[in-house]
Amino acid sequence: MIKRRQFAATAAGAAAGMAAGFPAPAIAQSAPEIKWRLTSSFPKSLDTIYGAAEALAKQVAELTDGKFQIQVFAAGEIVPGLQAADAVSNGTVECCHTASYYYFGKDPTFAFGTAVPFGLNCRQVNAWNYNGGGIELLNEFYKKFNIYGLPAGNTGAQMGGWFRKEIKTIEDLKGLKMRIAGLGGQVLAKLGVVPQQIAGGDIYPALEKGTIDAAEWVGPYDDEKLGFNKVAQYYYYPGWWEGGPMLHLFVNLEKWNGLPKSYQAALFNAAAYANHWMMAKYDTQNPQALKRLVAAGAQLRPFPTEVMQACYNAAKELYAEIAAKNADFKKIHDSMMAFRGDAYLWWQVSELTFDAFQVRATRG
Ligand code: CA
Repeated sequence: MIKRRQFAATAAGAAAGMAAGFPAPAIAQSAPEIKWRLTSSFPKSLDTIYGAAEALAKQVAELTDGKFQIQVFAAGEIVPGLQAADAVSNGTVECCHTASYYYFGKDPTFAFGTAVPFGLNCRQVNAWNYNGGGIELLNEFYKKFNIYGLPAGNTGAQMGGWFRKEIKTIEDLKGLKMRIAGLGGQVLAKLGVVPQQIAGGDIYPALEKGTIDAAEWVGPYDDEKLGFNKVAQYYYYPGWWEGGPMLHLFVNLEKWNGLPKSYQAALFNAAAYANHWMMAKYDTQNPQALKRLVAAGAQLRPFPTEVMQACYNAAKELYAEIAAKNADFKKIHDSMMAFRGDAYLWWQVSELTFDAFQVRATRG
C-alpha cells in the first residue's frame, strides 16, 4: 500500500494519484504559487547573458502553468552584480544568475564553476557537469555558502582580448598592463603581466588613455558594443582562460530544498534550456559581429604557440600551488583535469578532424 505523502512528493505521483481517484489536496500542495526574485550579475545591455536569465524564468513559468514565477532584476537593481551570490547566500533574494568565478576571492575553488585557464571547452563543460559528476562536486562546495547551483549559460570560447601592441614573444608580456580578472590574471602575472580589475564600463577609457595596454572582455558580439576596436587594433585569440565559461543559477539552499520536486525539476530543466539558449545565441551573433569588426579594421592575431605553452605551464604551476593548501580546490581540479585528458583523447579523433576540414572546405 503506497502512502499518501509519497504521492505528494512528485508531480508524477500527484498525476498518478489523480488517475487513481485520490483527493485533490495532494495535487494542490505539489503545485503551490511561488514568486521569486532573481538578481542578475549582468546589465540588460549584455542582452545575450542577461537574456539567458529571462529565458530561464519564462521556461519555469511555462513548465509550472504560471504557478512558479521568477522576476529577473538587472545588476544593481537589488544588489551590485558582484554581490549576487552573497544576496542568495543570506536570503536577500531566492536566486541569482551569475559567474561563480566572480567569487574566487572568497575561495579560488569558485573558479571551476565558470572556467579555469586551459580547462574545458563548452561541450566538455556540459559533459563534465551533467554526466561527469561536476554538478554534484560543485554543489558539495557551494553548500558551504548555503547555495545550490545549476548550469545556466555559456559563452563558448572567449576571445583573448584587445591589445594596443602585438604580442610576438613571451618577452612582450613583461610589464603589460592588462584588464583580466581571476585565475587568468594570476597565470599571466607569473609571466610579467600586471593584471588589472576594471569594470566593463571603465575599460574603454582606460584603453583609450593608455592606462592599460590590453583588455579582455567576452567575444565579438559583446566586445563590439563596447567599441574596443577603436582604441586597440589587435584582437587576439583564443581566450585560453575561458575556453567554455559557464554561468550558474545559484539558489538559496533552503529555498531549493523547500521546493516541490516538480518545481526543482522545472528549475533544473529551465536552467539547462538557458544554458543551450545562450550558447546558440552567441554562435549566431558572433560570426556577424566578427565580420563587422574586421571590416572596421580589427587585426585578428592568434597568440603565438610559445606564449600559449608558457601560459599553460604557468597555469599548471599555479594549480599545484593552490591545491597544496586547498583541499576543495584540489578535489575539483583533479576531477576536471582527469576528465579533460579523456575528453581531448576523443575530441582529437573525429570532432577536431571534422572541424579542421570544414573550416578549409567551406571558406568562401
Ligand atoms: Ca572574459
